[in-house]
Amino acid sequence: MKIVILGAAESGVGAAILAQQKGYEVFVSDMGTIKEKYATMLDEHHIAYESGQHTAERILDADECVKSPGIPDTAPMVAALREKGVPILGELEFAARYTDAQFLCITGSNGKTTTTSLIYYIMQRAGFNVGLGGNIGKSLALQIAEGEQRDWYVLEVSSFQLDTMYDFRADISVLLNITPDHLDRYEFCMQNYVDSKMRIIQNQTAQDAFVFWADDQYASAELAKRQEAGNPVKPIAFTDEPSKDSFGCMKDGMMCIDVPEGYTLRAADGIQLHMPLEELSIPGKHNVRNCIAAATATILAGADAEVVRQCLRDFPGVEHRLERVCDRSGVHYINDSKATNVDACQVALEAQTTPVVLIVGGTDKGNDYSTLYDLVRQKCRAIVYLGADNKKLHDSFDQLAAEFGIAIGDTHSMEDCVRVCSELAHEGDTVLLSPCCASFDLFQNMGHRGRLFKEFVRALPE
Ligand code: ADP
Repeated sequence: MKIVILGAAESGVGAAILAQQKGYEVFVSDMGTIKEKYATMLDEHHIAYESGQHTAERILDADECVKSPGIPDTAPMVAALREKGVPILGELEFAARYTDAQFLCITGSNGKTTTTSLIYYIMQRAGFNVGLGGNIGKSLALQIAEGEQRDWYVLEVSSFQLDTMYDFRADISVLLNITPDHLDRYEFCMQNYVDSKMRIIQNQTAQDAFVFWADDQYASAELAKRQEAGNPVKPIAFTDEPSKDSFGCMKDGMMCIDVPEGYTLRAADGIQLHMPLEELSIPGKHNVRNCIAAATATILAGADAEVVRQCLRDFPGVEHRLERVCDRSGVHYINDSKATNVDACQVALEAQTTPVVLIVGGTDKGNDYSTLYDLVRQKCRAIVYLGADNKKLHDSFDQLAAEFGIAIGDTHSMEDCVRVCSELAHEGDTVLLSPCCASFDLFQNMGHRGRLFKEFVRALPE
């Protein structure tokens, strides 16, 4: 069997190595340049590859294709493969053929990495033989190729990955939320994106479980459609406020999960976990949702509720997501560089309990900042712009700021930005980097932006 791999990064190279091991004739093709690390891995395995081009006759000769999630369906080579009827799968679909492990899969527009990391943290502490994969860390395919014998894999799954999953079945799936994102890849049609996210439950059986946030605008109705069409998965809804069909919520300052005995084949004894919200280690209402999802999913997998409780108390969080950096001159500094859209900044602001000096700016993705105005009025002492071009930010916030006595800073480098923030902040305030924008105007990526922020903050006088 001949297999062609399009895209030679983490998932593609992992799939190539696994495919070769399983006896496929493998060819890897990448339109761009291949990172040295991945080229070396391919060389070491004597796998044929090309970069900077796609050689059509070689690619179209394949029996199967594994496509990187970064390559859109509109790419000419993908269209040509489809036209020829060559099956196109993702790395997760391909790799899952070669393991008997169970899968706990997490998707959503926001919160995937946080929740996936928390679930992995709990599963390890609860004594499971568990691996981590999907959109995070080492590819599932490479882990399987390296001979790992896991009982469970915790997978962060993006919509692009779901688009190339067909027979894959999650034993436990988690859907955090669906809000508009990546619509350029979905013909600017929200329903296409929603359908993609809902693929997380395709193939699930009555033995499996689907944990989802039912306050989401789409999830409940979309689930109902699929149930009518015969999907037998056991749904476990949670909501912010207590409600009739919900098994998890926030009530009187507590996080409450109550799944009755016998409701689901997994956790047949039921689930009960109540704990004070203030004990949760990661801040903000959105993180309570992530904690409810993680706790429910891991207990369904068989984790001990007391271990889960302890993990929710001491989970250190994930870098660049509401990450506490340090205090300087009595001011708290928080790095939320991952907040590259307005929704993410909104939840970050909601989570703050002190006056805020908010850093926003970068490469704008067509943002509408007006949804932040109420929160900015309530929470912000100052807004500091950080971008190559801050014009849209001036247009969006200056008038509001003038009206409500909110100070404005205008900066074009991280060093300057941190200095200006430290001058504007009062003792007890929080300086929050939650920029609503991508980072490519001034930084290599959001990680680079976050790390520079931390560096300059730590260099401030104590
Ligand atoms: P993802 O991997 O889906 O991009 P992350 O866990 O990296 O998600 O979080 C990205 C940002 O999304 C965070 O900085 C936070 O502000 C916001 N966020 C996290 N969890 C949620 C949630 N459950 N609902 C809404 N926003 C969230």
